[in-house]
Order: sequence, then C-alpha cells, then structure tokens
Amino acid sequence: MDGDEMTRIIWHFIKDKLICPFVDVDLKYYDLGIRRRDETDDKVTVDAANAIKEYGVGVKCATITPNAARVKEYNLKEQWKSPNGTIRSILDGTVFRKPIIIKNIPPAVSKWKRPIIIGRHAYGDIYKNIEYVVDGPGTAELVFTPLAGGEKKVLKLHEFKGRGVIMGMHNTEPSIRSFAKACINYALGEKVDLWFGAKDTISKQYHGFFRDIFAEEIEQAKDSLQTAGIQYRFMLIDDAVAQVIKSEGGMLWACMNYDGDVMSDMVATGFGSLGLMTSVLVSPDGKYEFEAAHGTVVRHYYEHLKGNPTSTNSIASIFAWTGALAKRGELDNTPEVLDFARTVESIVIETVESGIMTKDLMLIAEPKVEKYALTEEFIDAVAERLKGKLG
Ligand code: NAP
Ligand code: MG
Repeated sequence: MDGDEMTRIIWHFIKDKLICPFVDVDLKYYDLGIRRRDETDDKVTVDAANAIKEYGVGVKCATITPNAARVKEYNLKEQWKSPNGTIRSILDGTVFRKPIIIKNIPPAVSKWKRPIIIGRHAYGDIYKNIEYVVDGPGTAELVFTPLAGGEKKVLKLHEFKGRGVIMGMHNTEPSIRSFAKACINYALGEKVDLWFGAKDTISKQYHGFFRDIFAEEIEQAKDSLQTAGIQYRFMLIDDAVAQVIKSEGGMLWACMNYDGDVMSDMVATGFGSLGLMTSVLVSPDGKYEFEAAHGTVVRHYYEHLKGNPTSTNSIASIFAWTGALAKRGELDNTPEVLDFARTVESIVIETVESGIMTKDLMLIAEPKVEKYALTEEFIDAVAERLKGKLG
C-alpha cells in the first residue's frame, strides 16, 4: 500500500533497491496516496483492507489523514477519513509498536534497556465517535434502543446553558476480548510481562468494562502465563505511565486506543526517534499489516519540494517491509524469505552501528558521529552491504 509525501519517496527506494532486486515476490499494489483516494472516493482504501484479509499480509506506507488545510492543499472532494482508521475497523485487531534498539543510539531514559512494546487496541473509542458542537441551551442525552424491544434507556449527559460540545463513543465486548487475547498471545510469543492501564476510578463503567474483560481473559490463560513466567499487572493509567518511565523496559504495555496512540509517540521518541518505531496490526483471525509508526514526515517533504537535500530516517519503513516478508515466509513456509528479511534487518543495524545514519540519529548517537547520511545515501549504504552479502 503506497502512501504520501516523504514516506512515498522512501517507499519506492526501499522497494527498488532493497526488496525487488533480491526477492521474487508477487506484490499486489494499492495506491493509498491522497490523490488516488480522492479519485476513487476512498474505495481504494477499502479494497486494500480487503486484500489484506484475502492474502493475510500487507505492508503500508504512511498516508495523509486530511484535515481542512489538506483538503485545500490537494483540492480534495471531501475530508476523507484516516486510511489507518478505515483499515483498522475492517480488520479489527490490535496494533503492536516496538522500538528498534541499536547499540550506539542510547534511549533518552537511561534506565531503559529492553524494548517497551505498546499494544494499542485499534477499534472504537474516540476513533469511531460521533461529535456535535452545541450552539445554544438544551439537553444532551444518551439513548439506547434495544433491538429486542422493551424500554429505551435515556441517560442525561448535560443540561447546556449555552454553547458547548458533546461526544458519543463506544466499544464492543468481542473487540475488547480479542484485544486482550491478542495481547496475551503476543506476550507469550515474546516472553514479556503484560501491563494494562486504564482510568477505572473515574470511568467506572467504560474503563471498568475493559478491566473486567482483561481479567477474565487473563484467568483463562492463567496456566500458560504461569508456565512461561509471565506476570500480568493491572494499573491505573497514570501509575502505568510513571512505572514505565522508572522501568528497564521489556514489557508489553496494553493500552486503550487513545492511550496507545499518544504513548507510542512518547515511547518512540524516548527510544531515540520516531524513525525507529515499527508497527504491526494483528487481526483476531491472524491477518497482519506492517507499517512504520511515524507519519509522512511532511516538513522534510516540503524541503524536498524546494530542492533541498533531506535526511529522513527510513529504518522503520524498511522494518515494515522486512516484518511483512518474514511473516510471508513464515506463513508460506519459505525459510529463505524469512532469512532474507532478518539479514536486511541486521544489515540496517550494522550500518547504523558503523556510524552511517540519518540526522535524527546523529543528534543522539553515542559515541558522536561527525556527519549524517542523506535519505537516499542511507538506503544506498544498506543496499551496498546487502549486495556484498548476497552477491
Ligand atoms: P510525522 O510525519 O510523524 O513527523 C513528525 C516529526 O517527527 C517530523 O517533522 C520529524 O521531526 C520527526 N520524524 C518523523 N518520522 C521521521 C523519520 N522517519 N525520520 C526523521 N524524522 C522523523 O508526523 P506529522 O508531521 O505530524 O504528520 C504528517 C502527516 O502524516 C499528516 O498528514 C498525518 O495525517 C500523517 N500521519 C500518518 C500516519 C500513518 O499513516 N501511519 C501516522 C501519523 C501521521 P523534525 O521535523 O524535527 O525533523
Ligand atoms: Mg499518534
């Protein structure tokens, strides 16, 4: 799934220099760039999500989620929805974000030694909300109409005296349950402790619902968790934030949708750069979508358009490709494909450890490096080493 701006440029470099020369792979191409989404009235996004369902594995480039300014910039017919939001609601599932750890890129939090993996519930809450700006005095109510008949449930939200704003959001038991299951499976697979934080002291029903379903699923998996030596901790979300900073890492932190969105940027930056954070969406029926956690790096793209050189980190995008190839290899039982993916990953890490890196990493590397690589120079350095290794 192709995308937008700086990441679209990087995407093509990766495909042409690191993947296609070495792997015989039948790629199904979906252009999720903003222009194509606009042309197809966003149908291409739905087609791409259905293709992941069909083939089992997808890799996605970062894409623009249009706001009012983007509608103007690209002269769009409509303010199309977030493609990631659309894909997530079709596949359901959980997003796992894991930082790439490199020896000469020390984390901002010096105690962090092992990855902090964020498991983000990828369905519902504010990402599937209904919002309304209230223009004047009136009553806001929450209404539930049972399909089976019986009385409507009406809850008063607020008695407005003037302007204000309201929002309705939801989640579903099957989605929360599969989120909990996905996190338990991931923790078992990676052999890491599982933490879950919510604000159940304030939101006794909504957040409490999540807490209780998690507890039930943990109870179900009790024996396998115990055998693997995996601890489960439920915490208040604010406590979880504090504990994560004080920890050495090495846990899966399960987060509700919004917490996962925000905290993954905090954790990514803490580990060095947004360019080192990988992301995978795992659906309850075992479909995988890989991507970098960052956006289209628009500031760099505008520099590129002015004809200025850029130094944009391609590592998370490269790992999106290798993650997808490795999964493909695993599902198809083609170990050479899996080996190739792992080789590319280790070459990327070796390249940075040898002192070749983009500017975002140069600024924090220990020991210091004198100069940074431009966007394409870094990918070329990886390609050279790859050719050296594979001929
Ligand atoms: P962004 O693209 O993640 O970039 C924010 C800043 O983080 C950049 O300006 C840059 O900092 C740094 N950065 C991020 N990735 C980097 C990389 N690979 N190498 C070096 N530095 C990197 O977020 P944004 O600028 O807020 O959003 C741009 C567009 O991306 C928006 O249209 C948004 O909708 C979209 N977006 C898409 C996705 C997705 O498709 N998954 C996710 C998030 C955002 P400096 O400027 O300091 O160099
Ligand atoms: Mg975010």
